[in-house]
Amino acid sequence: MGGIAMATETPRCQLLITHACLATLGDEPDLVEDGALLVEDDRIAALGTTAELTARYPAAERWDAAGQLVLPASICAHTHFYGAFARGMAVPGEPATNFPQILERLWWRLDKALTLEDVRYSALVCLVDAIRHGTTTLIDHHASPNAIEGSLDVIAEAVQEAGLRACLCYEVTDRDGAERARAGIAENVRFAKSQGPKSEVRSPKSKSQIAASFGLHASLTLSDETLADCVAAANDLGLGFHVHVAEDAADQEDSLRKSGKRVVHRLHDARILGPRTIAVHCVHVDESEIELLAETGTWVTHQPRSNMNNGVGVAPVEPMLRAGVNVGLGNDGFSNQMFAEMKAAYLVHKLAQRDPRAMPGDLVIRLAYADNARLARVFWPDLKLGELCEGAVADLAFLDYHPTTPLTAGNLPWHILFGVEASAVTATVCAGRVLMRDRTLLTLDEEAITARSRQLAAQVWERVGEQ
Ligand SMILES: [Zn+2]
Repeated sequence: MGGIAMATETPRCQLLITHACLATLGDEPDLVEDGALLVEDDRIAALGTTAELTARYPAAERWDAAGQLVLPASICAHTHFYGAFARGMAVPGEPATNFPQILERLWWRLDKALTLEDVRYSALVCLVDAIRHGTTTLIDHHASPNAIEGSLDVIAEAVQEAGLRACLCYEVTDRDGAERARAGIAENVRFAKSQGPKSEVRSPKSKSQIAASFGLHASLTLSDETLADCVAAANDLGLGFHVHVAEDAADQEDSLRKSGKRVVHRLHDARILGPRTIAVHCVHVDESEIELLAETGTWVTHQPRSNMNNGVGVAPVEPMLRAGVNVGLGNDGFSNQMFAEMKAAYLVHKLAQRDPRAMPGDLVIRLAYADNARLARVFWPDLKLGELCEGAVADLAFLDYHPTTPLTAGNLPWHILFGVEASAVTATVCAGRVLMRDRTLLTLDEEAITARSRQLAAQVWERVGEQ
């Protein structure tokens, strides 16, 4: 990790990034050739050309971007740090033939095998990946049924060590019995309270990079009684929910059997929906459910790589957007290379609809940046994310991308979708703090994390095999 002498403990006072190709995104996307950004504490204090800003701020410390493309750092609307050890794991038994079997044979075995140390290293592995690929804000959904209490603190510590920003929750479920359901509720409550009183958490002066939500697994593993307990607990704290919704047809079948209602209606009647709630996936929702999601201002997140992998179907993203539903883009525990998720979103709808006009490039980029930034504001109301402008938080990704065709603000989406790879990211900045420079991580020891993760993952795999 040596060779780079940089103070990384506290944000610098003033840092002038020069000679960058700035893609601002935001409401009026612009491209500033030979651009410069003045980062002051955690914010972008000025944006202009290198000539303008070097004249205006001659004393500021400089960082020459050498013509790299600088984008707002990526935001991930839904992920699972705890899934990191699944990579390459042999799933015992016959290959799963449907989604409920994938849950039972893979995820519900893996999560039961996790200790608090596994939880910590699963998170660290994902955080290294996020920094490497320019993702600085992540909304996580956690499960570790044999290590529930304190698990969110362990993840929060890892996120703080990394210097990233994350919203955390624990997934409450009845699948492991009443005691663990209660423990899951208690963990959400304990963690949210530990983040300070509501007013403090939401104060515009608050610089906390950690936020809390209330996690629920999915309708298919939650009884009406548990849902009611969760609503009572979350309402006291002013929290919204983070819950998987109609990911597979099995969730609808279960809900109809249990309640006579479709999933979104069941959750609405249980008072789960609202503008602070994230309904993950919504692959199998009908028109009435889409209407209800729009009416309640509920957020939906789209994870096309996960949906393809599980063979569950393609979410009706465009109909939801037309109906006025808020939609963001997550990765469901896939790599934290949000550019890969954008590409999947761009491609899968065209194939599924056999229509090359489906899910246009500018729409994908809107979901990934502007819409994900609006979702992040639910948890960090004082932060302007997902764009480069004065007053926005300094969350930046530097890409060694030198276009071979003309690049404009208007055609940037197609450069991102067809040209940019996450491996082009050379530097990542979160809230003004440099987390990676020249591809060297400055806050986390990647080598040590990788080595310990390999040991722990092998032990987790053994315990999974013994179940
Ligand atoms: Zn998920």
